Amino acid sequence: MERCDVVIVGSGPGGAATALRLAARDPAVAARTVVLEKAHHPRDKTCAGGVIPKALHLLAELGVALTTPHARVDRGRAALPGGQVDVASDDLCRVVRRREFDALLAWTARDRGVALHEDEHVLHVAREEGGVRIETERRCYWAPVVVGADGSGSVVRRALVGARSGPVARAVMCDVPVDPRGWDGYAERRYEFDFTACATGLRGYRWVFPCMIDGVPHANVGVYALPPVDGTRLQAELVQALAGVGAEARSWKAFPIRTYATGTAVAAPHALLVGDAAGVDPLMGEGISFALEYGVLAADAILAARATGDWSFRSYARTVARGPIGRKLRRLGLAARLFYGRHQRLWFRLAAASPRAQTLGLAWYNGIDDWDRRGPLAAIGALLVPGRFRPTAGAP
Ligand SMILES: Cc1cc2nc3c(=O)[nH]c(=O)nc-3n(C[C@H](O)[C@H](O)[C@H](O)COP(=O)(O)OP(=O)(O)OC[C@H]3O[C@@H](n4cnc5c(N)ncnc54)[C@H](O)[C@@H]3O)c2cc1C
Repeated sequence: MERCDVVIVGSGPGGAATALRLAARDPAVAARTVVLEKAHHPRDKTCAGGVIPKALHLLAELGVALTTPHARVDRGRAALPGGQVDVASDDLCRVVRRREFDALLAWTARDRGVALHEDEHVLHVAREEGGVRIETERRCYWAPVVVGADGSGSVVRRALVGARSGPVARAVMCDVPVDPRGWDGYAERRYEFDFTACATGLRGYRWVFPCMIDGVPHANVGVYALPPVDGTRLQAELVQALAGVGAEARSWKAFPIRTYATGTAVAAPHALLVGDAAGVDPLMGEGISFALEYGVLAADAILAARATGDWSFRSYARTVARGPIGRKLRRLGLAARLFYGRHQRLWFRLAAASPRAQTLGLAWYNGIDDWDRRGPLAAIGALLVPGRFRPTAGAP
């Protein structure tokens, strides 16, 4: 049995951020940390790859420059039941390929002293001797703490933390080469969201993102939906979204996204969850920025536990629930209930009515100028008092 200080299961953005933060704050602990990954980087991940400014800020904090190829987005278009909204802002989003992005993060963590064990599928996790025993296909590990960064179907969640979480959403997507006659969004650096299917019961939206695959401009086309939704409906929505860019359905990929809701369990003695394993944005299914933020908090909680000897991780659960991350996730949950609920037409109409509110809402969502950390009074002040709110560019 290999004894470690920390075992992290999964090397997506959540696991990599935890490792990177440990490496930055305590290199000795990082040197006794193992990341177990069932795949091998660069590995595919079903994801549109939209990296919002909040995620770029967190990457900068972790000392990682976005050096992988990406498409830049400076405009947005949202089709709403009853109208269309266009926004423009310097650097709304970067669209990466997850196989390249995740490899960059995992390899950077490895270069900073964390052991990355690939092709190691974690099969069993159980509490043992005041810590956790982790069994993979090849070996057995023991550590006083395990971090579940193993995505929506987290084995760590199931074994140690329990089922209390938000609903599990579904998303389907495919990449199609861009024909400028069919869609000008790539050239215009524009992403598009279409919420019109909410009027017929979809609790989600269709999207089109510009992206670059092997040097060739593509559109990433997809559908996100909270339950209840079935595969037939998702497929029909995807076909419609593809028609919007002049493309036809080919092969597509689907994957679940575990969302966060009030009361979601994110920790248990000797175990922490980050990213999709913990629960991310229920409104849009955005999870990269949350995975990075959870990872930073988890690393800090581990170092605090080592200092105090309290491995309950109750304070991590409290920090998530009561801190800025939990507040933002709960507000996104409220927005999902309003926009995907019975009175959605009213909420969409209100959202379409004020360009100022749209800009502020976008700044909040994207974490620009810490708007996602400020309270409702600051937002009301910004809406009512001219000059209170001057959005700045998205990226650091
Ligand atoms: C179709 C789709 C589109 C999306 N688009 C966006 C978007 O544009 N922007 C955005 O921010 N978010 C998007 N998301 C959400 C985003 O992909 C996730 O929220 C994000 O990947 C979560 O990161 P993570 O590190 O928690 O988990 P993951 O990225 O899922 O990483 C988990 C890692 O754990 C490994 N693993 C799993 N089980 C085990 C095991 N038992 N043993 C060892 N290793 C294991 C996996 O191989 C994987 O490498 C999208 C999701 C989907 C499905």
